[in-house]
Amino acid sequence: MSEPAHRPTTLLVVEAEPTRLDDLRQHLGRMDGETVLHGAGELAGALERLSGGGVDAVILDPDLPDSQGIVSFERMYAFAPDVPVILLTNEGEDDLAVRAVQGGAQDCMRKDEANASVLLRSVRYAIERHRLLTALRSLSLIDGLTELYNRRGFNDLGEQYLKLAGRSARSASLILLDIDRFKTINDTLGHHVGDRALLSVADTLRDTFRRSDIIARLSGDEFAVLAFETSEENAQTLVGRLRAELTQVNETTKERFQLSVSIGLARYDGDDAVSLDELLRQAGAAMHGEKRTKRRTVAR
Ligand code: GH3
Ligand code: MG
Repeated sequence: MSEPAHRPTTLLVVEAEPTRLDDLRQHLGRMDGETVLHGAGELAGALERLSGGGVDAVILDPDLPDSQGIVSFERMYAFAPDVPVILLTNEGEDDLAVRAVQGGAQDCMRKDEANASVLLRSVRYAIERHRLLTALRSLSLIDGLTELYNRRGFNDLGEQYLKLAGRSARSASLILLDIDRFKTINDTLGHHVGDRALLSVADTLRDTFRRSDIIARLSGDEFAVLAFETSEENAQTLVGRLRAELTQVNETTKERFQLSVSIGLARYDGDDAVSLDELLRQAGAAMHGEKRTKRRTVAR
């Protein structure tokens, strides 16, 4: 693969008052000439600039004259999902930050902590992560139907993820799930409805987990997620959230099928090294245990 032509990084700064833009401009003036800055004072102007293309990353202060809070981010993300966004929040807006990261923001930073050099570092990382994702796509580590990682993507990234968990002494959970009686959906409603069921599970996983978690479709109707746990969320909480989300999907769906899945969980506590295969084996055993129990219950 040939190296792409070198071009400066184009950064769009969206904020009601151009304070941060001025700050960044001054900071960059003292540094490289490799970053081009654009400013927008309203969401409408930002979207217009994005539609022109060529923006590598956005710094978004969501309190704008024409849109406020999470909605500003959601509208921007819906408009340009491929452009990494770094969201600026106020003190006490942790909920907003979590929602934004779950919704696809690359990073969130408190305004009072985000000086120019910290922000630019975050921008660089966001762009690198984004490039990696694009490269992975082209290496076909992505499942064509759901656009989640495929088994190969899961294996490659999962091993790295586990090493990272070990180095930072963070615990991680592997959640494995398989749709129950999926063949019946295919056989009674048709293969294309079966595909929609797979897409619905994929969307539910995307809604439930963070963008930084590794979500994959391993084969036919089998999915896996590798997620870092945070202090408030342990493995069972993650599974509980997933089950609650699936219940919600079933209650509101217009489809003629109901989604039922069996879930298996394996944990890595961040201490001794463990292989991804071993975690998959443990989670698989737990998942098949749930399936057997369900079959017995149905047969009775
Ligand atoms: P169980 O409850 O034991 O999980 O049984 P199941 O009916 O869900 O069957 P199983 O998990 O063993 O098999 C998955 C089926 O998924 C088999 C295959 O026909 C179907 N399948 C695999 N890939 C696709 C796909 O891309 N689209 C559709 N619609 N079906 C698929
Ligand atoms: Mg199945």
